[in-house]
Amino acid sequence: MATGQTLRELEAKNEEQYDKILKETHLTDHPSAFDNALKQFDRAAKLLKLAPNQVAVIKEPRRVTEVKLPVRMDDGSIEVFTGYRVQHNVALGPAKGGVRFHPDVDVEEVKALAFWMTYKCAVVGIPMGGGKGGVVVDPRKLSQGELERLARRYFAEMIDLFGPDKDIPAPDVNTNPQIMAWFMDTYSMHHQEFLPAVVTGKPIELGGSAGRAAATAQGMVYCVHRTVEHLGMDLSKLTVAVQGFGNAGSYAAKLLHQDGCTIQAISDIDGAFFSEQGIDPEMAIAHVKENGTLKDFEKVAKVEKMRDPMKLLELPVDLLIPAALENQVTEANAPRVQAKIIAECANGPLTPEADDILEKKKTFIIPDILCNAGGVTVSYLEWVQNRMGYYWSEERIQEDLKRIMDNAFQNVLETSLHNKVPMRTAAFIFSIQRVCHASELRGLYA
Ligand code: NAD
Repeated sequence: MATGQTLRELEAKNEEQYDKILKETHLTDHPSAFDNALKQFDRAAKLLKLAPNQVAVIKEPRRVTEVKLPVRMDDGSIEVFTGYRVQHNVALGPAKGGVRFHPDVDVEEVKALAFWMTYKCAVVGIPMGGGKGGVVVDPRKLSQGELERLARRYFAEMIDLFGPDKDIPAPDVNTNPQIMAWFMDTYSMHHQEFLPAVVTGKPIELGGSAGRAAATAQGMVYCVHRTVEHLGMDLSKLTVAVQGFGNAGSYAAKLLHQDGCTIQAISDIDGAFFSEQGIDPEMAIAHVKENGTLKDFEKVAKVEKMRDPMKLLELPVDLLIPAALENQVTEANAPRVQAKIIAECANGPLTPEADDILEKKKTFIIPDILCNAGGVTVSYLEWVQNRMGYYWSEERIQEDLKRIMDNAFQNVLETSLHNKVPMRTAAFIFSIQRVCHASELRGLYA
């Protein structure tokens, strides 16, 4: 998270100034993402009246691995990076979850992301458990060759953990199909076999699935369709703000624009851009393709650059889509959030304190473990196709994705209405029951 680094820099300054800046920059001091994830779990576990034995088995990660990754840089020097893989729970199947490359990755963040994967797979009914990986690195500072050597070394160091029936990585922040291709090649060369099912989110030419690139956003869009029906709103009249313009955010803007929504704001790490009349996402995507970032977008499009990018979260739009990192809406800025619906494309963008504030304001939150589950759903379909060696059409994938997402949304909505709890707690109630039941059926080994 950008927050961690900023905080470390700020710590040097005096106490009073530090507190003031914390407030102004909306940072709170300072539960980890994993603390927040456990709070979410506890809320549902309490309502389910889980026994301590059940909680003990399904709450904490099963395995946490840290590795050091020496990589030869282009200038001949060696730099040592730190990498993690966390397998949270594998009661329902092999661990599944992305690998993040980011300077603020730490073990608590990876534990949280792996935890959310366990319950995300269970919400959509995928026969897989939760995993996640990360490398502490700013990939923007690496050449393509350095990036490849780092990716391969990460996979090589973890090679015994990974496998089509053990643990299957995928892309996350700052990782992409090319990096998945290097992962797959490293594993296949090691085993001297073509083993595409060890990783998903691959390029189509190497066993990737039709529809995977847009899947996370497409799944979110299906959830938004169901939400709008439930709330009696008009989809084509929605105004939208999207934070983050990578895989999840750019497709989110594009697909909702195709639905007739007005995309009033977008942002990435280099800035936020606003237009009341609406931004053309295709133009923004072309700009990012050419420049690698939204930087200077105001010079080519009729948009205003926002002075404070965090204010994007507080715009008076109907639909807010956080699609960047964790802990973006906290108790500090939640009172100023005006959106009627929040669709969490990112993992963990709202803290539990923000949830409480927004619940009082009757904001409809589509929680991450449901909202962004389209990504892992099509990853699962990719894995199935790899194992069959037979590939489905885009139409077939879309049909399955829509059916799975609609079904999951309906299950969570019904749980929410029946128990009179917010959608997040409902999603955990529903998924914890699945994981718990599978754990009990398996029993304890030895
Ligand atoms: P990505 O690397 O493709 O894009 C991340 C985007 O966020 C970039 O545009 C980056 O500039 C922007 N960003 C980073 N820090 C920011 C900040 N402080 N303010 C505004 N923008 C910022 O990553 P992605 O795959 O799109 O993942 C985004 C989120 O979606 C993550 O939380 C990820 O875990 C979640 N997610 C992704 C997938 C997937 O399939 N890619 C699936 C489920 C969930």
